[in-house]
Parts: sequence; C-alpha cells; structure tokens
Amino acid sequence: MSLLLGAIADDFTGATDLANTLVGQGMPAVQAIGVPGPDFDPGGAAAVVVALKTRTAPAADAVAQSLEALAWLRARGAAQIFFKVCSTFDSTDAGNIGPVADALMDALGTDFAIACPAYPTNGRTLYQGHLFVGGRLLSESGMKDHPLTPMTDADLVRVLGRQTPHGVGLVDLATVAAGPDAVRDAFAGRRREGVRHAIVDAVGDADLMTIGAAARDLALITGGSGVALGLPENFRRAGLLTEQAAAELPRVPGPAAVLAGSCSEATRAQVESARDHWPAYNLDPLAFDAGAAGAAERALEWIDAQPAGTPVLVYSSTDPDGVARAQAQLGRDAGAAVEDAMGTVAKGLVERGRRRLVVAGGETSGAVVQALGVTGLRIGPEIDPGVPWTETTQDPALALALKSGNFGTPDFFAKALGMLDAEAAGGAP
Ligand code: ADP
Repeated sequence: MSLLLGAIADDFTGATDLANTLVGQGMPAVQAIGVPGPDFDPGGAAAVVVALKTRTAPAADAVAQSLEALAWLRARGAAQIFFKVCSTFDSTDAGNIGPVADALMDALGTDFAIACPAYPTNGRTLYQGHLFVGGRLLSESGMKDHPLTPMTDADLVRVLGRQTPHGVGLVDLATVAAGPDAVRDAFAGRRREGVRHAIVDAVGDADLMTIGAAARDLALITGGSGVALGLPENFRRAGLLTEQAAAELPRVPGPAAVLAGSCSEATRAQVESARDHWPAYNLDPLAFDAGAAGAAERALEWIDAQPAGTPVLVYSSTDPDGVARAQAQLGRDAGAAVEDAMGTVAKGLVERGRRRLVVAGGETSGAVVQALGVTGLRIGPEIDPGVPWTETTQDPALALALKSGNFGTPDFFAKALGMLDAEAAGGAP
C-alpha cells in the first residue's frame, strides 16, 4: 500500500494518539521518531506520523523541522498532510501553530486550510470558535496556568489570528450540522472572503466525521487527533484504502519486562498490583550513591539472578513524599537521573533477550525509546484507551507498550503482556 496520509506531530505522545486513532479507523499507521532517514521503511503503512518535539521550540526551528518532515512525506507520495497539535491548542502568540501551518501551506502551494483541535471523547469541544475543556472555557481550565504554553484566551480565531499575518475565520456548528456539502461550501465561501485558516466548530464525533468528509480535498488539515477520525473513510471511498486492516499485535517472542518511572496515581496502583505477581526491583533514586549508571548496573545484576522466563518489574514510582525526598537529596536533576537509569536498564534488558517491554511514564518512555535507538513504531491494537501495543521498525523488532503515567486500569501490566501471550498461544500449531 502506498502512503496516503502524512502527518507531522508537534510532540511524541500526540503522535501516538493520532496514529492510534487512524489505526482504530482501519488505516495502518507507523510512527516515526523524528524526521526519518532515507532508509526508514514504513512497511506498507498507509499513514506515517512523524513525531517531532516542536511545540515549544523557537518558531524558526519548529518551521524548519516541520518542512523537513513534509519533504520526506511528500517524497513518499503522501496525498494529504495533517499537522497534529494538542487538543488544547497549546501554543504562544509567537507560535508555533500559525507559523508552522503557514510554512506547510506555502510549501504545499495552497491558500486555504482548516484548524480543529476538538476531541469530544476527551472533553475538548469547540463552539463559536471557543474551545471548551471538560465543559469550561479553555481560558478557565487548568491550561491557563500551563508553565510553557498558558492558554488565557478561549477564542481560537483570535488565538490563531495572533500567530499569522493572514486571515483567520470560522465555520460554525450550524454549518457543520448541515453536513459535508454545507461545510465544503463554507470552506469555499471563507476562502473567497480572504480567510486562509478556518477554525471549525465540533462538539461530537459525528461533527468530526462531517468535517473529515468535507476536508477530503484539502492539502493540509491542522488539528487534534479527533478531526482525523473521518479521514480514512475518504481514502476508502476513493478506493485507495482497500483492506479494512485490523491492527496487528506484535509477533515478538521472548520474555518480558515492565519499567515504571511514572509517579502518577494510576501507575502506582499498577506497580502495587504487579508486585504481587512478579519479581520486582525498586530503582530508588535515594540509593543512587554510585550515580545513575551504577544504579542501573545493580538493577541488571538483580535481573540476571531472576528466572529467565518470568516477567520482571523495575520501578522507581513513589508517592509525592518519596519524590520530595529524592528531590531534596538529588536536586531538580532527580528525574533526569532516574530517566537515565531506566534507559540503561532498558538497553540491558534487550541485550539479555527481553524483547517485550511495557514502559510507564511519558518522559520515561522518551528516555527508553532514545536509549534503545528506536526510529519507528508500527501501531497495533489498544490495550487500554489511548495506549496501543507497538512494534519497532528495526530488525529484530521489539514489542513496546508506552503508557502515559495516568492511563490504564490497575491490572494494565498483566493485561498488556497477557495479550501477547494469548496471541502466541493462538498462533501455535
Ligand atoms: P508521567 O507520564 O506520569 O508524567 P513521566 O515519566 O513523564 O511520568 O515523569 C515522571 C518523572 O518523575 C520522570 O522524570 C522520572 O524520572 C521521575 N521520577 C521517577 N521516579 C522518581 C522518584 N522516585 N523520585 C523522583 N523523581 C522520579
């Protein structure tokens, strides 16, 4: 299958979220970590999501990296480009949503695009161009105090208007409710009025499906993963996305390990639950007297003493008091030291033949993926909402489940590994 949809995401977990949404709509997707090299093999995926870390980068850097990603995607034949931003439209007046969208549009030779961060499943809705988070205006939600991108204005026509010299307009909910043809007419109307970026209202998934259908011929769509819901169907109708591809579990043999570096409540409950079943090692930063490398070395010696076929759990998760104690002893670098150690342990685990890894924590996942030199992830089925199994694109492949700290039920780790065991048992002759 050739590449149909090319996406550029401004952060790592947002990229996974988008890829997971596309796979959920039957479109095979691969996530590339950074702009892929010339040899990157999407393995027949219909969508490639390039994960960048440009949300808060200087605008010129964000533009340059996004254009590099665009060039790669277009060279592979991507017919439509998606610029994935946060569903709370995280940005400052200096960018980067406006500058990146403008640069992508210039490169694509188009003068009209839409922006829609609505994600009703996660409580993000858009009405009269105003973004609501869990029923409250964006500017009255927790996002108003975000350390990097405080969102103090809920009117996205105004917000985007401050990030671009071009016209920004609205396609309102009444138009969306009238269906794809009405929305397409509104796009043409706004464009005639000199609008280059249209914010599009949506309060439910049906609205997003309408917008997706109306966006069939747009070269660029900017949005959260919600507005991607309706895009696979366009390619299917055009006869380009032929199979209803089912997301495939990674077929990676070998023993497993769980690395938990998140201190979020959900992860702490998951660690408690797993400690009852598997050998567990506390990678405690308070015992990092020999540095992160020494601590990782000791953890790997402990792993060597465990039964080879049994999953092991290595965790640093602790309650807020524990985090405060670690920070008092190690300073603000405590988190970075733990991430370093987790990365080294992950590498050691793979060298010891453990090829199925579950990782808890967003930053922890970033550290592990970097330590393992992973360049791409094929997205498989969901374990819990928003967390898919993935398979690395390198050879031999690894099975990775990268979980944002607060996601998943208490039995998440056992459930994740159980899915692979069930697949292996089902696949046996
Ligand atoms: P989440 O997804 O829950 O935010 P992250 O992995 O993104 O989890 O962030 C957790 C941060 O806390 C990481 O930087 C991690 O290294 C750090 N950390 C983990 N364990 C401890 C600990 N015991 N003390 C202090 N910091 C820790």
